[in-house]
Amino acid sequence: MYDILFKNARIVDGTGNPSFYGDVAVEAGRIAAVGKLAEREAHRTLDLAGLVMSPGFIDLHTHSDFTLPLFPRAASMVRQGVTTQLVGNCGFSPFPVVPERLDMLKAYAAFIDAGLSWEWRSLGDFARLLESIPLATNVAMQVGHGTVRIAVMGFENRDPTLTEVSAMENFVAQAMEDGAFAFSSGLIYVPGIYSQTAELVALASVAAKYGGFYSSHIRGEGDTLLDAVGEALTVGREAKLPVQLSHHKANGKKNWGKITTSLSMIDASREAGHDVLADQYPYTAGSTTLAAVLPSWSVEGGISSMVARLNDPETRGRIKGELDEPEENGLEFDLTTIMISSIPEGPNKKFEGQMLTAIAEQKGMTPVEAALDLLANESGGIQMITFSMDEADVRQVMRHPAVAVASDGWTLSPESGGRPHPRSYGTYVRVLGKYVREEKVLRLEDAVRKMSSLPAQRLGRYDLGLIRPGCVADLVVFDPDKVGDRSTFQNPHQYAAGVHHVIVNGQLVIENETDTGAVAGKVLRRGR
Ligand SMILES: [Zn+2]
Repeated sequence: MYDILFKNARIVDGTGNPSFYGDVAVEAGRIAAVGKLAEREAHRTLDLAGLVMSPGFIDLHTHSDFTLPLFPRAASMVRQGVTTQLVGNCGFSPFPVVPERLDMLKAYAAFIDAGLSWEWRSLGDFARLLESIPLATNVAMQVGHGTVRIAVMGFENRDPTLTEVSAMENFVAQAMEDGAFAFSSGLIYVPGIYSQTAELVALASVAAKYGGFYSSHIRGEGDTLLDAVGEALTVGREAKLPVQLSHHKANGKKNWGKITTSLSMIDASREAGHDVLADQYPYTAGSTTLAAVLPSWSVEGGISSMVARLNDPETRGRIKGELDEPEENGLEFDLTTIMISSIPEGPNKKFEGQMLTAIAEQKGMTPVEAALDLLANESGGIQMITFSMDEADVRQVMRHPAVAVASDGWTLSPESGGRPHPRSYGTYVRVLGKYVREEKVLRLEDAVRKMSSLPAQRLGRYDLGLIRPGCVADLVVFDPDKVGDRSTFQNPHQYAAGVHHVIVNGQLVIENETDTGAVAGKVLRRGR
């Protein structure tokens, strides 16, 4: 007897093939059968007439490692159909922890850390913590270059010595042995920004030995986009491992359209025999820490050194001077396109949800001065949203067959406050609603493939992301006429529309749009 029999579904199976109608049986956490199963017995039967069943969505790009311990039900993610999250992106992972440098690590992650206990050292320790909380989704981990570099060199702006390289290699090896899927880097952030390509090749080579891949928030997504894509491809080629280009985009009006070239670089690299994929969130705005607007030298030594520089009038003047001439100084962000999305509790909290230009007007300053003022007062714990991309680019990237859908968001819950980027609540359902149903940029079957079997292939988990007998029963059921995003920039804490049921490892985690409380998520480990 089956555990659950889903009847009369329109099945979009994750391959990209045209949908078909049938039944799906689940037993012991796996898909037991697909087809016409009406006569078979099951403990529970759900009729899905009028609804689509697809594989659960696999999000290759989240930062939920910093929020899951507080929000293990993953409400923002699971309610849009996400059943597996890959964490540890952009060089940020919560391990390895070296106690003497824990304060630096906390400052590094301050803009996203939802209040972690930091009572672990390694991926293995952190996995045990995740296994002790009621996870609603599966979690797969990566080890972040930035965290590894802090553990060995702090925030120093120089090349590592040979001893330091081997210490970093050991940390990467330990994480890979503990089950990391990949090594990630974030080359616009300190300390990742201080590294040269050779350092990345050395560390990615360690991940390669274990069958991992390299995912990169590349060194620039604006003026230097193409060089930065080239660097990531070089790392993949020299370290001999697959490359995942994170949140692919072109920032800044004068760079719009460059993605035609960057996508053809991906194609050329694939044609030469290299395994390169990218991922994307379906918005024309990005989000990161406000400190990322600063010249890298001004953040050297970490956040406390940054605050000290901002409080010294002469140094602050120099920083302001560079920000006033962003192009000449190789700076990526246009401060007039920035909205402040979250600020710690205090007198500046009122600026949440406002554009930097509006804040500047209230303060009687320029946007650059307002940004420096906020950074000096809030020690880096500020998130921003940057309205920096072109809709035509978003569509072109989305249509590319080697691009997966991924959120760059994290597990949130309405009580978590602030005005975070709506991608944490809306990425998958926005693609299904706006880009599939309304604007027909993608076929439904192609969109689902980019959310399921394509990211599963990147993880090397061929038993995920497909509706096939024997595959893991991670499934989502949605109404194709109603599915969509409700989360907005001004009112982000809104759940997805039209997602009826979400099944993780064979258990209903969301049933009729309600959290069942089922503890169904697992920590996935590479090669196990
Ligand atoms: Zn990133």
